[in-house]
Amino acid sequence: MEKTTCAIVGGGPAGTVLALLLARQGIDVTLLEAHQDFNRNFRGDTLHPSIMEIMDELGLADRLLKMSHSKLNRGLFETEKSTIQLVDFSSLDTKYPYITILPQVRFLETVVAAAKEYPNFKLIMGANVRELIEENGEIKGVRYKKDSDWQEIRATLTVVANGRFSHLREKAGLKSVSTSPPMDVLWFALPRTQADDRWLEGGLKARIDKGHMAIAIDRKDSLQLGYLIFKGSYNRVRSAGIEAFRAAIADIIPELKDRVNHLEQWSQIAFLAVNSDRLTRWYRPGLLAIGDAAHTMSPVGGVGINYAIQDAVVAANILSPSLKGDRVWLPDLAQIQRQRELPTKVIQSFQTFVQKQIIAKALDGDRPFKEPSFLKWPLLRDIPTRLIAYGIVPVHLEAI
Ligand SMILES: Cc1cc2nc3c(=O)[nH]c(=O)nc-3n(C[C@H](O)[C@H](O)[C@H](O)COP(=O)(O)OP(=O)(O)OC[C@H]3O[C@@H](n4cnc5c(N)ncnc54)[C@H](O)[C@@H]3O)c2cc1C
Repeated sequence: MEKTTCAIVGGGPAGTVLALLLARQGIDVTLLEAHQDFNRNFRGDTLHPSIMEIMDELGLADRLLKMSHSKLNRGLFETEKSTIQLVDFSSLDTKYPYITILPQVRFLETVVAAAKEYPNFKLIMGANVRELIEENGEIKGVRYKKDSDWQEIRATLTVVANGRFSHLREKAGLKSVSTSPPMDVLWFALPRTQADDRWLEGGLKARIDKGHMAIAIDRKDSLQLGYLIFKGSYNRVRSAGIEAFRAAIADIIPELKDRVNHLEQWSQIAFLAVNSDRLTRWYRPGLLAIGDAAHTMSPVGGVGINYAIQDAVVAANILSPSLKGDRVWLPDLAQIQRQRELPTKVIQSFQTFVQKQIIAKALDGDRPFKEPSFLKWPLLRDIPTRLIAYGIVPVHLEAI
């Protein structure tokens, strides 16, 4: 049986960054990841200004920017009648006034490579955590399966960072409240051509037309596309066939007519069932939940990674002093929830607002889409830019 100070379940953005932050404080940390590698398609490749500032504080920003990436400066919203700027990161006072678009696998590998420089960091790949070890109401570690063997690791603190499908939060008895986003998203990639410079105009474009909505993201060497559908209609879209899907894409983004044939089978298209929820309590003795495991985000604003990493930074800032002494205090865990819950509630309320006021109306083909008037008020447009880039309060490393 192994023993560590902090066992982190899940090698996503939240788990890897927390592992690095604790390891560099000299704290014993073991990161358990179910997969054998960090390769994931369409899991979000966006690093917002707040995250690049944190990476800068960690000395990793330049390393990340040396890799092939693209920069998203602004987001535009195009209807049949007009084009409106939704967000403009270039107006932010920061060294990184853009969203860095970098494959998530490169980001995770970079963070893990930095963590491996510390001898007190341990990574176990292929470790599928199935059970929490509970004694006298306190979580004392986890049981996991690796190569069909059961293993156990004891920990002073167990961090549940295993994403939106976390079963451990239920096993820990943590309850959640959820909202009902009206849509699901189909993500796919298409080749990029030089002609795309003209209509993409700076990075991201959302287009609404006759009851359809699509999003195009400039990835420099390819295009990432999202096609929004009413929640629960995936089977109907799929049974209409890939040809009908290609026609729908060419209809809403005619600039892609020459390339939709690259979509030959459904396996090229990733289905995102959009969920949005939040735990009412993020902790219990010996356990803390962060990232998607604590709050699954709607894709509006693409902030899931941003908020997951900010949770990790706040957790490291608050917990490092006591974890250095191999201890964890319940009030510290409560403080992490207090600091992160309000920003999470605010962004989720913003997402719900956008879903109701824009997305649900855009997908309603029975009525012509009328742009909400608030989209035209420049002052109101600055709020989403800051909210998406930072949240209500920017988060920084305290114990560097
Ligand atoms: C299709 C899609 C597109 C997205 N696009 C964006 C985007 O553009 N921008 C954005 O910011 N966010 C996006 N997101 C959301 C984003 O991926 C998450 O918000 C973010 O990754 C959350 O980070 P996390 O570390 O909390 O969880 P995750 O990234 O989900 O990481 C959890 C990790 O835990 C591991 N794990 C799961 N169960 C176990 C277990 N039992 N034992 C051990 N390990 C386990 C998983 O393999 C995974 O590596 C997207 C999500 C999806 C599904």
